[in-house]
Amino acid sequence: MDNAHIADRLDAFAVLLELSEANPYTIRAYRRAADVIRGAAVPVAGLVTAGRVRQLRGIGPGIEARLRELVETGDIAELAELERELAPGLVGLGRYLGLTARRAIEIAQALDVRTPEQLRAAAAAGRLRTVPGVGPKLEARLLEALARDPDPTPRRALTLNRARELVESIAAALDAEPAGDVRRWRDACERLAVVAAASDPAPVLTRFRALPQIVALLDQDTDRATGVTVEGVPVELVVAAPERFGTALLRATGAPAYVAALEPLPDAADERAVFAALEIPWRPPELREAPSLATPPDLVELEQIRGDLHCHTTWSDGRASVEEMARAAIGRGYAYVAICDHTPAVGAVQGLTPDDVRRQGEEIAAANALLAPFRVLRGIECDILPDGRLDLPDYVLAELDWVQASVHGGQRMPRAEMTARVEEALRNPYVRCLSHPTGRMIGRRPENALDLDRAFALAVERGVALEVNGLPDRLDLSGGHVADALAAGARIVCSTDAHSVVGLGNMENAVRTARRGGATAGDVLNVMPLPELLARA
Ligand SMILES: [Zn+2]
Ligand SMILES: [Zn+2]
Repeated sequence: MDNAHIADRLDAFAVLLELSEANPYTIRAYRRAADVIRGAAVPVAGLVTAGRVRQLRGIGPGIEARLRELVETGDIAELAELERELAPGLVGLGRYLGLTARRAIEIAQALDVRTPEQLRAAAAAGRLRTVPGVGPKLEARLLEALARDPDPTPRRALTLNRARELVESIAAALDAEPAGDVRRWRDACERLAVVAAASDPAPVLTRFRALPQIVALLDQDTDRATGVTVEGVPVELVVAAPERFGTALLRATGAPAYVAALEPLPDAADERAVFAALEIPWRPPELREAPSLATPPDLVELEQIRGDLHCHTTWSDGRASVEEMARAAIGRGYAYVAICDHTPAVGAVQGLTPDDVRRQGEEIAAANALLAPFRVLRGIECDILPDGRLDLPDYVLAELDWVQASVHGGQRMPRAEMTARVEEALRNPYVRCLSHPTGRMIGRRPENALDLDRAFALAVERGVALEVNGLPDRLDLSGGHVADALAAGARIVCSTDAHSVVGLGNMENAVRTARRGGATAGDVLNVMPLPELLARA
């Protein structure tokens, strides 16, 4: 039984838990365990049999028991029984539409449909409104979600972090260069590729086949091969003679449409020489989506970032203290960090009350006394309530150095309401930055129905920055939206939303995503020294 199958069964079991309205933490624990198993480099079935599966992150006794049943009997009985009743794909589509599993099944039963396709057809035929409890408002919302993105990110796509880890480990083992979607820092990676330079490809191909990451070969030629990983993801290896390496790297980096417009490519040993021979300026991989011969902007670099403006501590759902986060930020060479914990309305985790904010301020002052000239900023990630008010009173926000405003609950609002909600928050005089503006979770939750053009215009007017959130399943704003925000005249902030010391390492995701939108250093607020940053408002 391979890891991908085990992970899929755990994900399905999480749906079952959702149906029985189990504790949300338990449900999340199963989903997280599924992700860990999907990404595990060793066969998990073997670990289960050996009684060692709890060595994997996030696998406790409850999940271990389910895993043992699955590995020993071939399935989880409770789950197999449920699936005789319903098609799991329906629950997946329901989750994508923002419905709980229970609600998705009630709707499916009322419509007498058993597959996602049948549900789409029934919706298109106007039958949703015949379902008890589905009013015109919910129907409109569901139809809008179905129309907005009829094909959510396919399951095969990997998050950027997982894809990078995989491709970089394969490249390192073969002395090759990462290429494909990873090199362009796409937000969900489907085309994984590495390019090696060698006059004799045979030994490289042999080493590729023997890698622990590659479980089978899909196909092989004299100078290339496609292997498949435990997750079932294809990875392509291209071997080029050293004098043609640059050409092969450019081709394997893509995007296909970008490369096609440059063909035929001259042979060259490095990529810059290919561009030079074509007599066009070198283009950073992040900007190689649509064909373009134009001179690219001077993109922001990771090394230019002077601080992280969105991270959490044990005061809400983070795992490190204020001082630990600050020391880790110093270790990254930063001059400042903003502690932005949650406020009570976030619900699932503890949030800071006005009294907590004051007490945290004392802890931050102590850290500043200890760590000067490094600066820990008093920040907050303040929930935007459904009516657009903020979750803390203005007199509390006024004390803080950096206020992030975030939509968390109630993301399924219709467009007009969601836009009014965010606009109201942007008008608050203390808000400095709008967090993860679209609210999407890559492959799991579509963007909120927010009118981004209006939000960008108001952000510019109010001097509020827009976040590029570096969490690998958010990357929000996306590169495309960054380009729109910059065109509207907005400034952006590259942040990690770190919940741990390690999480601060996602800054590169944020910077690369900003680069995909064409951001230069001048567009990014946290490239500025702190006094300049704070004076701006
Ligand atoms: Zn948030
Ligand atoms: Zn956050």
